[in-house]
Amino acid sequence: MGTKAYFRGIVEFSNICTKDCYYCGIRKSNRNVKRFTIPEEDIIKSAVWAYKAGYGSAVFQSGERSDPEFVDMVERVLLAVKEQTNGKLGITLSLGEQAYKTYERWRKAGAHRYLLRIESSNSDLYKKLHPEDHSHAKRIECLKSLRKADYQVGTGVMIGLPFQTIDHLADDILFFKKIDIDMIGMGPFIFHKETPLFQHSKKWYKTDKELLTMGLKMIAATRIFLKDVNIASTTALQALKNDGRELGLKAGANVIMPNTTDTKYRESYKLYENKPCTDENASQSRGSLEKSIESIGETIGFNEWGDSPHCFTRKKF
Ligand code: SAM
Repeated sequence: MGTKAYFRGIVEFSNICTKDCYYCGIRKSNRNVKRFTIPEEDIIKSAVWAYKAGYGSAVFQSGERSDPEFVDMVERVLLAVKEQTNGKLGITLSLGEQAYKTYERWRKAGAHRYLLRIESSNSDLYKKLHPEDHSHAKRIECLKSLRKADYQVGTGVMIGLPFQTIDHLADDILFFKKIDIDMIGMGPFIFHKETPLFQHSKKWYKTDKELLTMGLKMIAATRIFLKDVNIASTTALQALKNDGRELGLKAGANVIMPNTTDTKYRESYKLYENKPCTDENASQSRGSLEKSIESIGETIGFNEWGDSPHCFTRKKF
């Protein structure tokens, strides 16, 4: 994939979530989070900012909702962003499990990539990390629906989870291949105090160094196995080491997602502790990132969508 890295400006626009994943800081049962949804015009502004900064693409991520108000709101935002950027900003969504019709509507409104992590390809491990009513099979169905709705589809897993073995991680990579995925966003798992999984934090403790090494090895092994997919160097790597994302690029990733969410909301979008850049504004993030990426001998694909080459050669649905 060469030495070009692509930016996706990520806008984390709401932490209201109907899901209750045992590991996630914004799960619905966590009463200690101030809930927010960024007003539509501010979400649009952040995406247009990313476009003007030359990022080429934006990612919209939030807690999971599928009520009609939410679906309509996302559709309006997509249409407005497409209009205000002359259709030139690539848009990835990361909004969880939705009905096929919803995926279709958002695709028509302008999104063309979707990231839905399987979290673990092993259904028994998935069960240990989620309440009864969260379904592994449904998540796989959603990945298929996304493909059918003509998205470039991404998935991924958390690395270093309680109960997770090296065999599970190897199987995760085989799963990426089996479902013929276009993009991968995976990163180290980091405990959050206000989640049920925290009770396992002593037994399953790993140092930052161990977690970072596992994250980098997963990227490297996946890159060797899947040569033409996009792989993101995720923020969780940066939480473990200042230059974690740059190390991710060196290990084989080719996408970075600088945070372009208004800083006043970032404190409340904490999926895990020590989430970096919560008080750094978007332009600071851009400046420091640009310098550090150049320092490792990579270039930045400004103003390009940077689609995964795999999606042009793989089987169509
Ligand atoms: N609700 C959407 C979904 O489930 O796809 C998108 C938002 S969700 C917060 C985004 C991702 O955050 C999840 O797919 C999960 O892998 C990751 N995440 C949540 N808690 C985490 C933690 N404690 N450590 C690392 N990653 C975490």
